[in-house]
Amino acid sequence: MSRRPLIAGNWKMNGLLADAIALAEGVAAKRKSQPDLACDMLVCPPFPLLGAVAAALAGSGVALGAQDCHAKVSGAHTGDTSPALLKDVGCSAVILGHSERRTDHAETDAQVKAKAAAAHAAGLLAIVCIGETLAQRDAGQTIDINKSQLKGSLPEGANADNTVIAYEPVWAIGTGRVATPEQAQEVHAAIRAELVKLIGESEAGKMRILYGGSMKPENAAQLIALPDVDGGLIGGAALKVEDFWAIARNC
Ligand code: PEP
Repeated sequence: MSRRPLIAGNWKMNGLLADAIALAEGVAAKRKSQPDLACDMLVCPPFPLLGAVAAALAGSGVALGAQDCHAKVSGAHTGDTSPALLKDVGCSAVILGHSERRTDHAETDAQVKAKAAAAHAAGLLAIVCIGETLAQRDAGQTIDINKSQLKGSLPEGANADNTVIAYEPVWAIGTGRVATPEQAQEVHAAIRAELVKLIGESEAGKMRILYGGSMKPENAAQLIALPDVDGGLIGGAALKVEDFWAIARNC
């Protein structure tokens, strides 16, 4: 089954307006220099920078995403952003259930599931993040935790066109510790096997599963080459044009 890799940058809460424009313009220029590179590329800046980054990416083939959305279409939800508004300002995707949101905002699987359903309804690609903590890994619970988060976070109607899974071991995010290829492949294969049960063999075979957690130019080639790894969700290394591009060039 050949799946087109996705290289997605999660800029988190980093950068000011000028930094974001420079970074987006740099990524756009790289992509334009090699439009036939066999992967999709996406950057996900903080909310207030979406409009400026959309303008900087225009015509480049690099897609725009957000880092969260609300589950409702509109209403009295101070500080939140609806999926419809994200779509309206140029987003085609949204990261949901990132471990930092699960920790900082106590987001549950049920909330992630509701947000993913809302994202789908607005026509956005939902990038649903799952992953175990170090304590859970040490306790031998890695596969069970990922299966359970996957089951709890995927809404009805999830398919390979509207959903991407990001496996992000919490212990590898922003720590410089990366999963070994064996660890990554083991979990990705288990996620795909669980997807077969949840959405059927055909969609499971087509659905992209990204690895995230200290992916860098030095380790990306090995990870992206794994049979069940279909690209990366990249934090720190997405903040430098050269590093992000060096990762994408492994596709
Ligand atoms: C992330 O935030 O999704 C991530 C994987 O971060 P980093 O690449 O910095 O570990």
